[in-house]
Amino acid sequence: MNNFNELKVNKNIVELLAKKGIKEPTEIQTEAIPVILNDKDVIGQASTGSGKTFAFGIPLIQKIKTVGKDPSGLIIVPTRELAIQIADELEKINFENKKILLTYGGREIAGQIENLKTGVDIVIGTPGRLVDLIERKAINLLKIKTLILDEVDQMLLMGFRNEIDKIIEVCNRKRQTLCFSATIDSTVKKMAYRITKEPVNIVIESKENKLANINQYVIKTSDRRKLDTLCSLLNETNPFMGIIFCRTKVRVDSLEEELSARGYSCQKLHSDIPQAKREKIMKAFKDVEFQFLVATDVAARGVDITGVTHIFNYDITEDVESYIHRIGRTGRAGEKGDSYLFVTDRNTEMLIDIQKQIKMNIPEKEVEYISGVMSALELPKKKYNKKINARTKNIEEQKKRYRQ
Ligand code: ADP
Ligand code: MG
Repeated sequence: MNNFNELKVNKNIVELLAKKGIKEPTEIQTEAIPVILNDKDVIGQASTGSGKTFAFGIPLIQKIKTVGKDPSGLIIVPTRELAIQIADELEKINFENKKILLTYGGREIAGQIENLKTGVDIVIGTPGRLVDLIERKAINLLKIKTLILDEVDQMLLMGFRNEIDKIIEVCNRKRQTLCFSATIDSTVKKMAYRITKEPVNIVIESKENKLANINQYVIKTSDRRKLDTLCSLLNETNPFMGIIFCRTKVRVDSLEEELSARGYSCQKLHSDIPQAKREKIMKAFKDVEFQFLVATDVAARGVDITGVTHIFNYDITEDVESYIHRIGRTGRAGEKGDSYLFVTDRNTEMLIDIQKQIKMNIPEKEVEYISGVMSALELPKKKYNKKINARTKNIEEQKKRYRQ
């Protein structure tokens, strides 16, 4: 599992975060922290509440060195409320007691000028007030190593474009620039590309957007019919790459055995399989060396494989969050995906819970029930041949794409 240590976050910061109960980085933090620590420019998009502040705040606090009087970090934000919020968040992890100055309109400017004279490390401010300080020659931005613009969309909406340009003009040119925004439209993009150099783009899709890319279906079945129904469905859909989720390791073991015996191209993944072997299996899956991954929820989180087209919830999850995590393995990076949820009479309550939380009724799909059905690959029937050829061709193309 991911944690802040793996992202090379300073152990003092890791400890301070843990004290606040923060142990697992969010998606935007996982993606952005290593890139920022690596001194790259970043254009980052993630929805409100996704933890963007620590995504740039942790590497900032970790990297910034006190160089003397003038600040080496600058964060430009649209409002005083946000400035205060970011300062609070940074103070939580400020293990070396870096001097952080808040500056925004409506606050006495004289005191801030005094503070700047005695020396600060990081300045957080609104565009108008920063321009004011620049015009009064009260602030020197030539030592800025990292410049951060937070909520760029908001700042542009509020008409701060000129102010931002003025500030950037007097900033050190040899700097790292990070732009964060909840939404990125063409005006945000234009500004972000103008002020960054070879930026790394990081886009974290919101839950709602992710779900919108996934066609969800419910398959009504019974324990006795489940396996044959699954096989019929696998033949009918013939996915490019699919993950089949089971509730327990034992059920993964037996389903994988059954499917292999019936001629399906599959491998299994659960926590009893040694780590090295698991990594090998994941690599083989990424290389499309087999079609189906049969897994417990260990494969539900953090598995990022482009190309997973189908999710089969052979066993329903125990909570809604896990269901969302499982189906989120498909429909990634704007691609479409399909997900099937097998439901027996005993699962009715959980299904109701899921539908309530995702705010939709999942349509039911009928699957032809054939007893003892084998893999389409094993059946020398003509009607399958076309599909199989299409799949084989597709794999070769996909592999080429991966290897590029
Ligand atoms: P954003 O800027 O993306 O809207 P914030 O950075 O303001 O989101 O974070 C929203 C909330 O989540 C804050 O209260 C913050 O302390 C909390 N938070 C940030 N990172 C984590 C994490 N890794 N685990 C748990 N809570 C977090
Ligand atoms: Mg924010």
